[in-house]
Amino acid sequence: FRLSRRPDIGEKINVSFEFFPPKTDAMAARLWETTQRLEPLAPYFVSVTYGAGGSTRERTARTIERIIKETSLTPAAHLTCVDAKCDEVDGVIRQFLDLGVKRFVALRGDPAEGVGSHYQPHPGGYASTADLVAALARHGAEDISVSAYPEKHPESPDYATDIDVLKRKVDSGAKRAITQFFFDNDVYERYVERVRRAGIYAPVVPGILPVHNFAQVANFAGRCGAHVPAWLAERFEGLEDDPQTHMLVAAAVAAEQVLDLVERGVTDFHFYTMNRADLAIAICHMIGIRAQALVEEEKPAAA
Ligand code: FAD
Repeated sequence: FRLSRRPDIGEKINVSFEFFPPKTDAMAARLWETTQRLEPLAPYFVSVTYGAGGSTRERTARTIERIIKETSLTPAAHLTCVDAKCDEVDGVIRQFLDLGVKRFVALRGDPAEGVGSHYQPHPGGYASTADLVAALARHGAEDISVSAYPEKHPESPDYATDIDVLKRKVDSGAKRAITQFFFDNDVYERYVERVRRAGIYAPVVPGILPVHNFAQVANFAGRCGAHVPAWLAERFEGLEDDPQTHMLVAAAVAAEQVLDLVERGVTDFHFYTMNRADLAIAICHMIGIRAQALVEEEKPAAA
């Protein structure tokens, strides 16, 4: 991969990091170490996912509360509308707003049976993600992100339908779209062209998944409609029992992808961190993002 970079490039790039709410004390400790290591990179925001059907509601809220209380990071709360009545969803929105959350990632979510099972809006719930976005805006959310699918959502019959759903979300108040992960930058570029042709001008921020575990990623990709190119499988082939080399290859693969996107003019990146810091830090370093000194807030002069 390319080794020389323009020294000024890091200043023009915004990154955000995604976490999932930890289930155990050991996972919480790891997430906490990760947030502390990522904090000096001054991300634009860090987002915390929301389990299907609200299954992680309290854990998502507790994780966000800790981020607010103990770090300088700006949190964004993911929120889904699947399997919930409007007033339940509104209650969660108010809970997050009361914690001081101003940013949200609004999603439909998947039914409990998983991706691909036929989605039915809850009879008393928000019928679509666009309706959830509108509800968040009505409640005073300041910054709403939504999902986008460069390889189209697996339930989508075609790109036109998929992009129409995105348009409705943006027209309802979403400020940016964050993509499902992908490994072929040409696919992303073609998708952004389609989105622009449809009259959507919101940023389409690439979601980057550093490959911590190739077997898991391949399995997950199969379920969410993301294509794993043969060249990627070849790079990780034979590394199942060699975690150190796997990690080095993963850093090289992700750095190559991100550097190529920078060359194509992309300035914002969202990292699916899997609650791990190493690869995210290495890739950020490659694009010129370095630790920022934390500045102590100015205190008013004593009278
Ligand atoms: P939408 O964007 O509302 O719709 C997805 C697709 O379904 C559309 O593009 C369209 O193709 C089709 N579709 C929708 N409505 C219609 C319609 N009326 N007619 C025809 N086709 C339609 N899941 C979680 O449970 N928790 C999370 O925290 C979470 N975070 C995520 C973050 C990102 C950045 C991404 C990309 C996904 C995330 N997901 C999360 C996964 C997401 O919930 C699933 O992919 C789900 O299947 C779709 O939700 P959505 O908001 O993307 O759906």
